[in-house]
Amino acid sequence: MGQVIKGKPVADAITETLQKDVEALKAQGIMPKLKIVRVGAREDDLSYERGALARMAKCGIEAEVLELPADIEQAEFVKTLKAVNDDPAVHGILLFRPLPKQLDMEEIKFVVDAVKDVDCMNPLNAEKIFEGDKTGYPPCTSQACVEILDHYGVDLKGKNVAVVGRSMVVGKPLAMLLLDKNATVTMCHSRTADLPAVCRQNDVVVAAVGRAEMVKGDFIKEGAVVIDVGINVNAEGKLCGDVKFDECVDKASMITPVPAGVGSVTTSVLAKHVVKACKQLNGIK
Ligand code: NAP
Repeated sequence: MGQVIKGKPVADAITETLQKDVEALKAQGIMPKLKIVRVGAREDDLSYERGALARMAKCGIEAEVLELPADIEQAEFVKTLKAVNDDPAVHGILLFRPLPKQLDMEEIKFVVDAVKDVDCMNPLNAEKIFEGDKTGYPPCTSQACVEILDHYGVDLKGKNVAVVGRSMVVGKPLAMLLLDKNATVTMCHSRTADLPAVCRQNDVVVAAVGRAEMVKGDFIKEGAVVIDVGINVNAEGKLCGDVKFDECVDKASMITPVPAGVGSVTTSVLAKHVVKACKQLNGIK
């Protein structure tokens, strides 16, 4: 049976480092601050927001929520977001997605100041991931996968890694982060032919699909590492990942659970990005 690699020890280790960083910043009179901009009150957003606020508090980071009406118009929204950008006390901005339909993401994604864009909304940060420029901020979920692999000592150099899912919030940026770690990355998606056979050739399989328990035992070669990004509800109404855990755990050498896996690390990465933004804005290395 493979080792079940949980997110909490990873999140705790990141938090411990950040607590020291934040203390050092405060000693210089600098208070790192995250502003969460939420439009409406979707349950998913509220749930993530609670976790994010708790994590910021644990790290000593100030956090504030700006709640805007679900029917806010584009011009008003852009004006409000620009005011958040211009607030010198704010170092990181998290904007929940998807936004309501009347809001035009094509304009909005460029409005968030790239230096304060701690969850990779501005295309400039996506570009930085592709360039290997470490001053940018990968999406927190993609970075959380890398933090887990690092924490549990998975050396990616020369390893074959399959990333199933090619969204801009998880799969694509993650592939670039893994490439940066010298892995040989195969991107899989809904048109990949014989997905189980492709996955079986890999030392690491990351599932970021959004389909309950789609990755079955026959996708996994003996001893592979399995990272499950998915958050779904299965036929029995239970929270589950994209990986059929019971079938894969015996084949894998390591596997993340759902819940208590990748999802538990994302708010720590968010906190890490806020501290990084705060340092960059204050010219601190
Ligand atoms: P998404 O935007 O819907 O993208 C899903 C990707 O999966 C697409 O690239 C799609 O391929 C691919 N796909 C769909 N069906 C497939 C199939 N049958 N075989 C192979 N590939 C298939 O989803 P997302 O936003 O990336 O999220 C993915 C999962 O991660 C979801 O369960 C989401 O809830 C979860 N998530 C978790 C966290 C966290 O903190 N743990 C954060 C964000 C997301 P095509 O491009 O070909 O359509």
